Amino acid sequence: MSFRCGIGYDLHRLAEGRKLIIGGIEVPFDKGPVGHSDGDVVAHALCDALLGAAGLGDIGTHFPDSDPKWKGANSLLFLEHARKLLDEKQFRIAHMDVVVILERPKLGPHFPKMRAALAKSLGVATDKIHLKAKTNEGVDAVGRGEAIACHAVATVSQHL
Ligand SMILES: [Zn+2]
Repeated sequence: MSFRCGIGYDLHRLAEGRKLIIGGIEVPFDKGPVGHSDGDVVAHALCDALLGAAGLGDIGTHFPDSDPKWKGANSLLFLEHARKLLDEKQFRIAHMDVVVILERPKLGPHFPKMRAALAKSLGVATDKIHLKAKTNEGVDAVGRGEAIACHAVATVSQHL
């Protein structure tokens, strides 16, 4: 059995009139991410981290934003698909760690629901998903509340 690690990063601009979807759930707020799909930075960064760990390309390869099929898509579908790709190559998810960078609102109270939604899509126990939130200390676009960003690291084991 061998272990491999992958990294993922995502950023979306925030605009009024969009739903704030993070980690597969809607967080009440007056702005949300602009994107072809629902703009879920956690799902997108996690998807890239998992695909990266398995050496299977990136989210843009599998879900091109030129494809109308993914317009407004629930990004948990991307995770479900990534999980299938990993299964085919005998990869199992060992652990995932995520940092969401957002000035407002506070995300901590929403983490249990996010972990449950992400764990369900990926077919893993909730304790394999760790979520953390940071502000950007008022600096740059994220700090001005104009964008949301996310970093994710995934560790997978391969059973061949
Ligand atoms: Zn994205």
